[in-house]
Amino acid sequence: MGTLKNIALALICCQSSMIHAQLKFDDYFETKTLRFDFYLAGNAQRQDAYMDCFREEPHWGGPLTHLTDSPDYGEYRYDVFDEASGNLVYSRGFCSLFQEWRTTEEAQITNRSYSQVIVMPYPRKNIRLEILARNYVTGKFEPLFNTTLDPKSIYINREKRPEYPVTKILNSGKPAQKVDLVFVAEGYTEGEMGKFRKDAARFTDFLFQTRPYSDRKNDFNIWAVECPSEESGVDIPGQKIWKNTALKSHFWTFGIDRYLTAPDLAVIRDKVWNVPCDAVFVIVNSEKYGGGGIFNYYGLGTADHELSNVVFVHELGHSFAGLADEYFSSEVAYNDFYNLKTEPWEPNITTLVNFETKWKDMLPAGTPIPTPPAEINEGRTGVYEGGGYVTHGVYRPMINCRMRSNSAVFCPVCQRAINRMIDGSIDQ
Ligand SMILES: [Zn+2]
Repeated sequence: MGTLKNIALALICCQSSMIHAQLKFDDYFETKTLRFDFYLAGNAQRQDAYMDCFREEPHWGGPLTHLTDSPDYGEYRYDVFDEASGNLVYSRGFCSLFQEWRTTEEAQITNRSYSQVIVMPYPRKNIRLEILARNYVTGKFEPLFNTTLDPKSIYINREKRPEYPVTKILNSGKPAQKVDLVFVAEGYTEGEMGKFRKDAARFTDFLFQTRPYSDRKNDFNIWAVECPSEESGVDIPGQKIWKNTALKSHFWTFGIDRYLTAPDLAVIRDKVWNVPCDAVFVIVNSEKYGGGGIFNYYGLGTADHELSNVVFVHELGHSFAGLADEYFSSEVAYNDFYNLKTEPWEPNITTLVNFETKWKDMLPAGTPIPTPPAEINEGRTGVYEGGGYVTHGVYRPMINCRMRSNSAVFCPVCQRAINRMIDGSIDQ
């Protein structure tokens, strides 16, 4: 029985690698974006996805390769199939603020919805789009939503969105061959755009002083979208401060004063509709400490706190590279965020359920698992208990890392994950 199963599995693997090899971008796609707007809704017990609309956007910022081989990251995934052949032609993982909310106390007693946007290259032929959600108990993806689309449909929204001045801070080449990182202004008035450009340029300089980005500058394009806000600043509900801003961001997300988010992703994507885009980072015009970053969704952080530069790089670690927080003992209000009986998908933490898939290959010979957090191990890759918001059962690769502390550099495991994400975001 076991042998037959293995042969079947080997055949499937072989078949899918043949599809990878044969999948040509131009056979299935045009270099424009198809955007799908929908809502994730529910509570702690259940969730559903509800369609809003499809949109056509003028550029495609992603690679023309790596269409179906992205890492198995995210609480959700979307698969795009060519309807006629059934072949998988595009796939990506993502996370959502809704999923974080589902782990809060509020989700036990009320229902809520969050807007969600996913993008794919614009198909030439009919497609089937499937959205999957990870089951908390098994850690495996299960179907959540399914629809088909004729790319010539008259119902695909082709409206232009408002256009804002766009500054190209770093121009290294064609969008398909580069990671296109797009900064978006939040809480800057029309008169403050000079400051926004300076803030975006400062973040850019700091990014390329940080390993491993410092070795990869030539792989990035950096853009800055100058969308103005009516009022300067940001909502701080705990201080009764409310500002009319372009992206509706606010502090005190889920009762945490420093957790800064913008709950309406469609509003943000409307600002970057005409810019090639692999990753969005919202710069919030405030001196308060804080930020947030959600994988393949967005990152955001404030401009003017003394730690703003390092917070930006930390949050981009979440939103671009899918890194987990390596800290624990914090005020974060998540209940059982990680199931200790499954291996988390993030590359820089482990529950030791399936450590072989993580950084075992990077451990120096003879490293004990778990590794004691002794002084002698400072700066050594190991398997240290504590991470992912809990002190027990989740392990991290180094005593200190930028994903744990603002004073540290990225550990080798996080650096490798960032490099791999850059490699998968560009044509080589
Ligand atoms: Zn790390």
